[in-house]
Formats: sequence, C-alpha cells, structure tokens
Amino acid sequence: MSGVTHLVFGFGFGLIILYLTNNRFDLRRVLIFGTNNYIGPDLRVLILGLFLLFGFPEDNANWLSIVLVHSAYGWPLFSLVVALIYYYFSHYTIEKTEKFIPTLIRLKEPAMSYLDCYKLTLAGGLFHFHLDWLFHPNTPEYTAIMSTGNFEQPFQPWTAPPIHWSMLFTGIIMLSFGYLMLWIFAMKNWSQKEKFINAVKLNILYAIFYLVWLGAWLLVTGDPLPVGEESDFGQIIFYGIVFFFPLILVATSFERSEFMKAPQIN
Ligand SMILES: [Zn+2]
Repeated sequence: MSGVTHLVFGFGFGLIILYLTNNRFDLRRVLIFGTNNYIGPDLRVLILGLFLLFGFPEDNANWLSIVLVHSAYGWPLFSLVVALIYYYFSHYTIEKTEKFIPTLIRLKEPAMSYLDCYKLTLAGGLFHFHLDWLFHPNTPEYTAIMSTGNFEQPFQPWTAPPIHWSMLFTGIIMLSFGYLMLWIFAMKNWSQKEKFINAVKLNILYAIFYLVWLGAWLLVTGDPLPVGEESDFGQIIFYGIVFFFPLILVATSFERSEFMKAPQIN
C-alpha cells in the first residue's frame, strides 16, 4: 500500500503549480499527476499478482514486476498503458447531481490530448521515486547516489591547506556560472523569452559539463573527486530523473504562457 505521504506530496505539489499558473495547470492535470505520484509505480502489485496467477516463481515475478513497473526505466513504458485510462476519462467531466451523487458527463471533445495524459502519468510516477529512493532503507538507488560522494576526509579548505585543486576548479565553475547568469539578465537587446531560453541553456550546459567532469574522474580513478562533502554526480542524476525531468513534463503539458508565444518589446 502506498503511503499517504505520496498522496499529500503529489497533490500538494500539483495544487501549488495550479496556483502559480493561474489554473492553466488545471484540477484535471493535478488529479493525473497526484494520482500517479501516489499509486503509479506501485501498480506493480497488480502485475506481480498477474505473474503469480500465471504460475511464475515468486522471486522471478517480484523482480520482473519491479523492472517493468517500479523502476525509472520500466515506468516510462508502463505509463503508455496507464495513460490510456486517463485519456479515456478525459472524454468526460464530472458533475454533482441533486442527490449528491457525482455523475460522468461526456464531452464533445476530449479535455486533454493523449500526449499530455502520458506526460503527466510519467511525471507523477517519476516523482513517486523521489520518496521511495530516499526514504526506504538501503535502496540500490540511494546507495548508488551516495557512492559518488567523497565523505572520507572532511573537507575544510580553510583549516586544511593547501586547497585541493579540484576544489579550486569547482570554485571557478561556480563563479563563472554566476557571472554568465548575470550577464544574460543584463543583456539589453534580448527579449524576456531570449533571456529565459539562454538561462535554461546555461543551466543545462553546466549540469552536463559538471557531470562529465565528475563522471570521467570516477571512471578513470574509481574514486569520487573531493569537491566538498557532496555526492554531486549522483545528486545531479537523481534530481534530473525525479525532479527536473518530471517538472519539464508538467510545464509542457498545458498551454504555454504568453511570454513564450509572442515576441516581446522591451
Ligand atoms: Zn513505490
């Protein structure tokens, strides 16, 4: 049984997005995102039951249901099927009759496209792993994230000279990022849209650059690079999968805001 925290977390997040987008991310979308954050990948118990029914040995059935449904690689595929249910219901709206019984009323056109249903099903499910990977004891994902950090020697450059060169390099990356971000916002001839797009590009560029840098070091030496007591490599991948990618899916699942559509005059 999925914990109620999933429910509160997903719906809480969805409702804040609804508020921030002035209802363009509407209640229907909150419902799909929130429901999948709650129950999405835990639908694996249904698949497990099916496998057991067909006589699979329990160990295999358990493993297979995790791979197919309750994993970051299985869920994107399984979502294709789950999204069909939400797409079916996007042909209906719900209204309360005088007898206090909610009834389904068929719409002339579906309220959402299948693609948007899929995006939100996928996003909600990936968001689900946010809690699962962090707060179940010793999950393989949590162990993998932490293994990319250097926690052996406490890293305090101000008390332990000389400063390690990797710290210096990280400092240069950090400062140049800040400078370039300010540079983008200060550009006179760029529209708000251009500034936004370039800021996003800069962010992605730095994430990739840093990931390649840390990953290459890890691969060559087998040791995580000391960049402070952080597991940066694992964290970037973790937040990419369970936070930023789902949010990008959410952000592109409804009508885009005005400033992204029309050319702006500053
Ligand atoms: Zn779960």
